[in-house]
Amino acid sequence: MNKSLWAEGFTQQQFPTITENLDCDVAIIGGGLSGLWSAFHLHQAKPELKIALFEARHIGYGASGRNGGWISADYPVYRSTLEKRHGKKVADLVFASLKKSIDEIGSFATRHAPSAGFVKGGTVMFARNKAQEIRLKAGVDEEHQWLNREELNEVIRIAGARGGLHNAHCASANPMQLVQGLAKYLSGKIAIYEGSTASEIAPHMLAVNSCVVKASIVINATEVFRNAPREQIPLYSLMVATEPLTDSQWKEIGNAGRATFAEGLHLINYAQRTPDNRLAIGGRGARYPFGSRKSSEIENSARVHESIRKLAQSWFPHISDMKFTHAWGGAVAITRDWEPYVRWDREFGYGIIGGYAGDGMTMTYLASKALVQEIINGTDDVRGLHFVNRRSRNWEMEPIRYAAINTLVKLSDIADYEEKLTNRPSVLSRIIEPLILR
Ligand SMILES: Cc1cc2nc3c(=O)[nH]c(=O)nc-3n(C[C@H](O)[C@H](O)[C@H](O)COP(=O)(O)OP(=O)(O)OC[C@H]3O[C@@H](n4cnc5c(N)ncnc54)[C@H](O)[C@@H]3O)c2cc1C
Repeated sequence: MNKSLWAEGFTQQQFPTITENLDCDVAIIGGGLSGLWSAFHLHQAKPELKIALFEARHIGYGASGRNGGWISADYPVYRSTLEKRHGKKVADLVFASLKKSIDEIGSFATRHAPSAGFVKGGTVMFARNKAQEIRLKAGVDEEHQWLNREELNEVIRIAGARGGLHNAHCASANPMQLVQGLAKYLSGKIAIYEGSTASEIAPHMLAVNSCVVKASIVINATEVFRNAPREQIPLYSLMVATEPLTDSQWKEIGNAGRATFAEGLHLINYAQRTPDNRLAIGGRGARYPFGSRKSSEIENSARVHESIRKLAQSWFPHISDMKFTHAWGGAVAITRDWEPYVRWDREFGYGIIGGYAGDGMTMTYLASKALVQEIINGTDDVRGLHFVNRRSRNWEMEPIRYAAINTLVKLSDIADYEEKLTNRPSVLSRIIEPLILR
């Protein structure tokens, strides 16, 4: 089940289930943001196309309806890594495209999904020990400004924070409301089916439940649900949310501008002030499942939920009566070099997108736009993005994969503990960072 805060009221089907065979121009598999934005861009470019989208459960069932709601200019690998791998020009195009995408998503959300509460409030990653401060300060550039403690307090007040790295290019929203707004916008323009599980049986042909669907073009937008255990691995990200906090509690915390925020730990964490004034916070630390199998047990790990609650309480110890009302999780898909994939095979009319790690809110928009540009032979700049028609190398075989990934997750946690204790950059982190390939 999608047990997220955002999914409340949205777990029932609103669109029909397929009941008869169908011929269409484009069949899209997956009713998350990748599938819906693909339909959006295709419809914008070629409104005459007959498009059908198939979702196995309900729209927003997957990560798109469960995530932290950061609509950021983050790419799964750091800018420095991207520049080293592909050069500065490539990195510039990626980040310029991401920033443009945030604004385009914002224009759409303001018009068609006002309940998503889209706000471009920027983002801040704060340091609570010297080691984090050194690491974050190394990221200062024309887009990332270092805020000292007083300046940080103007944005948000975090116990023990020494300052933070601020970037204006980030928005936040209720992701499920965005997904729903997009589905509503598309309904009537394309056919949407829920409760309709698709499998690819031949080129240009799908079996959807017990019906046959023929399409000149098929787009697989199932991301982490796709069974490709060596091309991408599922890593679980878990979240908790509080009840709506009172005005006086928010006065203590600050963040009137709803900047997204996170601590500069090795173990990824992310938080937002929700449009209805809750604190929603998520983090990694769950174990990787052997064989890349999906696991509802890991998705609901009580240990990880508790450590996220403790992290939030350590940021805001003065908000003692903060009640947590929701806990959930979902998986993100990670390729071996942490870069996403957008592939288009013209001969078979087959497209596939995904591998956004934890950065899919903006990347789904950009990747689907790039895919559609390939399909229609378009001239938009995004067609030249380096990850189009590129393939990462495979993950290692099991049990090497299981042992290595879980060791790295554990070591990241230990490195954070070491830095908390010693106030010095972790020796361990110097060993782990090059291994992660970000
Ligand atoms: C807890 C969590 C927090 C995150 N936080 C952020 C964040 O703050 N910012 C950010 O940018 N990213 C974040 N992400 C990542 C982001 O949510 C994803 O990258 C993005 O939503 C992926 O969208 P998608 O449409 O590709 O996949 P999904 O949303 O997973 O959609 C795939 C859909 O395909 C359907 N499906 C699967 N198989 C079939 C089939 N055979 N037939 C029909 N349908 C099928 C599934 O039911 C699912 O609905 C987070 C992810 C998680 C899990």
